[in-house]
Amino acid sequence: MMLDSFLRGGIRYTDSTVPPRTSSVTAFLPGLSVIPLVQHIGSRANPVVSVGDRVREGMLIGRGQGLGSANIHATVPGRVVRTVSWKTAEGTTNDALVIKLDGGFEKLGRHEEVFPWQSLSSFEIQRVIAEYGIVEMEGSGRPVSDMFYSLRSAKDPVTLVVRCVFDDPWLAADYVLLKERMAAIAEGSRIAARAGRMGRIVLVFSRKEKDLAQLFLDNMGKSDLPITLVLTGAWYPQRNHRELELVLRDYAKKEGIELGTILALGPATLAAIHDAVKLKKPILSRYVAVGGSAIKKPQVMKVQIGTRIGEIFAECGGFVDKPKRIGSGSPLLGRTVVDLDEPVIKTSFAIFAFLGGQLGSGIQSKCIGCGECRTVCPVGLDPEALYKYMKGGGTKDFKFGWAAECHGCGCCEAVCPSGLPLSTSIIRSALKGN
Ligand code: SF4
Ligand code: SF4
Repeated sequence: MMLDSFLRGGIRYTDSTVPPRTSSVTAFLPGLSVIPLVQHIGSRANPVVSVGDRVREGMLIGRGQGLGSANIHATVPGRVVRTVSWKTAEGTTNDALVIKLDGGFEKLGRHEEVFPWQSLSSFEIQRVIAEYGIVEMEGSGRPVSDMFYSLRSAKDPVTLVVRCVFDDPWLAADYVLLKERMAAIAEGSRIAARAGRMGRIVLVFSRKEKDLAQLFLDNMGKSDLPITLVLTGAWYPQRNHRELELVLRDYAKKEGIELGTILALGPATLAAIHDAVKLKKPILSRYVAVGGSAIKKPQVMKVQIGTRIGEIFAECGGFVDKPKRIGSGSPLLGRTVVDLDEPVIKTSFAIFAFLGGQLGSGIQSKCIGCGECRTVCPVGLDPEALYKYMKGGGTKDFKFGWAAECHGCGCCEAVCPSGLPLSTSIIRSALKGN
């Protein structure tokens, strides 16, 4: 079924410096792996190994503590040689176990033993997903087991949305992963639907990926659940939960079906669910889009978790010149990387290095009152007014609660000709609640 995009705001997001979406290149295994104890939204996992201990590939090395926290596993065999800690650009501290590669691999390059999941109950599948530390890999790193847990209080029906909307060119790694591991992602969708006792599966693809969508639908095979394919626009931020839900609710109304509660998961998370439940494997590696104007050879790479970002850049030929901005995630929202020794983690779908002139690397000047930020805001906010209020120059009757409605898509900041940090300031302020 063909659908329109969301109705207000948004941008056409393009970037010529992203890697080609043809195929992936496997990165070298790192001699030293840096495995952070925070690779999720919640509190730090509690280490269960010490310096000097030997670890096996896939072995539990950090136990998640409560909601938002996930288990952490060794991604290579070897010995824990030290612990390190560093301050992130956001001012938080992270710490990690450093593993020196040594010994044989039990999973990498071996014939994979397959475990049938069809006879497992929903609760048993959820337990396996929690045990293997599966998090939402295209987003905030929220543990998938928490997502399923929150569905227990949801009213029926529940719909699994397989989110394959490529509204951001920096989702190149997701795109390549989908092409290279389509059967696993399709099976991961069926496993997730069983785990969440879903009543329906909706596959949402960008309209321009119609052929890929049809191929995926064929891979889904026979299922007891109704499976529907929905095609949307690729105007950014169509993939965002709010904009996706707006379009899907509209679709359901037209079709006369009840979607109920929606749980949306992307290709990387679904592949990880497949690997955990069917192969008994935690997240050991992930697909990463490496690019930006400072990178000699942008490419999509399959990288072992814990590989340092500097090593990845070196494998892409290094820098053409000194970068002005290095970050992880999409440049529209991504966080700044301050140290090239920071590692790739479960949620690192992209890493980039820019020479300048791109988003977030320019010079700021005074607002010229062009109104572009208002035009692109999908929520209908006035980012200029919000920003000025925060800087102390706004009107007194301004309703600050509006800031809480901002979902941080970054559109306003992307179009501001004065290079003002609009969304960055609004999100920071909304989080503080002032
Ligand atoms: S970041 Fe917030 S204020 Fe800016 S366009 Fe997006 S929703 Fe609107
Ligand atoms: S886009 Fe930038 S310069 Fe234009 S009105 Fe908004 S804040 Fe001002």
